[in-house]
Amino acid sequence: MSFAGDVKTELCRAPLSRRCCAQAEAYGVLLYCNTFTGAEARVVTESASFAQRLPVLFRKAFKLSFDRLPQGEGKQVFAVADPAKLAIIRQAFGADPKALALHLNFAVVEEACCRAAFLRGAFLAGGSVTDPRKGYHLELATSHHSVSREVLALMRELDQDPRSAQRKGNTVIYFKQSDQIEDFLTCVGAPVAAMEVMNAKLERDLRGKVNRRVNCDAANLDKTVEAAQTQIEAIRRLQASGQLDQDRLRLAIIRNTNALGEIYVSRAALDSIQERDKIQVCSEFMDVPFDGAGELCLFEARSEEVPRGRNREWKEEAKGHGRSGLYG
Ligand SMILES: [Zn+2]
Repeated sequence: MSFAGDVKTELCRAPLSRRCCAQAEAYGVLLYCNTFTGAEARVVTESASFAQRLPVLFRKAFKLSFDRLPQGEGKQVFAVADPAKLAIIRQAFGADPKALALHLNFAVVEEACCRAAFLRGAFLAGGSVTDPRKGYHLELATSHHSVSREVLALMRELDQDPRSAQRKGNTVIYFKQSDQIEDFLTCVGAPVAAMEVMNAKLERDLRGKVNRRVNCDAANLDKTVEAAQTQIEAIRRLQASGQLDQDRLRLAIIRNTNALGEIYVSRAALDSIQERDKIQVCSEFMDVPFDGAGELCLFEARSEEVPRGRNREWKEEAKGHGRSGLYG
C-alpha cells in the first residue's frame, strides 16, 4: 500500500466515541469530498479503511445512511441525494441552503478534540501525502475556495503554517517541510506515520552528511593533487631560471613522482604537516630510498606558522643523508 494509504488506514483506527467529533470529522469529509452541493453529497475514495469507516461515521454524526454505496472493486463511491437527509446534514452545520459559496462554520470546530477530527476528515476525503523516502509533501485539496481560506486560518490557530495554492479549479493547502508534516499527522491521529516521516528525515540527513563528507574528501584530494602539480611546475620554473629564493622555503617536501600521491617528509616536519595540512603521510624521509628514477621537487610551505627552525632542522637532516645538494 502507498504511504498515503497507510496514513488513512491509521487515521481510521481513531475511535468514534464522541458525537461532537464525529460531526466535525464528517464536516471535514463533506467540505473536502468530491461533491457537496444542495443536491448531492458524494464521497469517492480508494482507501478501503475509509470506505469502511464512512457509513459508521455518518450514522454516528447524523443518524443517517448513504443512498448510494460502493459496488465492486476500484474507487468506492458513496452518495447522499435524498433532500430530507441533505437538510439534516446542512442543519447540523448551520449551513445556509441559499448561500452561493460554502463556508467553514467555526462553531463546529470550537473544541480542540473536534478540530483534530475535522482535519482528519478533510485529509481522509481530500488529502494526500508523499512517501517521505521520496519527498515531503502533504496536501488538502477542495473545490470550495472560501472553505480552504478558512481552514488555513484554523490551522494557523493550531500553530500550523501551511501554504496555499490554486490548482485546476481546486484550492490546495500544503506542507513541504518534514517537521510540519509530522505535526499535522500527529495532530490528526497518525503518530506512527509521523514517526516514519521523522525516521526518513533522519536517514536522509545522515546519508547526505556521509555523501557530502565523501565528496568533500574526494574534492579535497583532487585539489591537493592539482595544487601539488601546480607547485611542482612553478618550482621547476624557478629552479630553471635560478630565481628560487631559499629564504622563502619554510618547509621542504620531497615528492617522488614514481609513487604519485605519496608524500615523503622528514621526521621533523611530519607532525606539523599531518596536523596542519591533513596530508596522508606514507613514509618518513629516511626510509625512502632515492633511486634517482623519481623526480625530486621542492614545495613552498603553505603555512606561515611553520617555525623557521624547522627548515634548518630539515636541511641538516637532508644533509646527513647526502641530499643537501638538492637545495642549492
Ligand atoms: Zn469533539
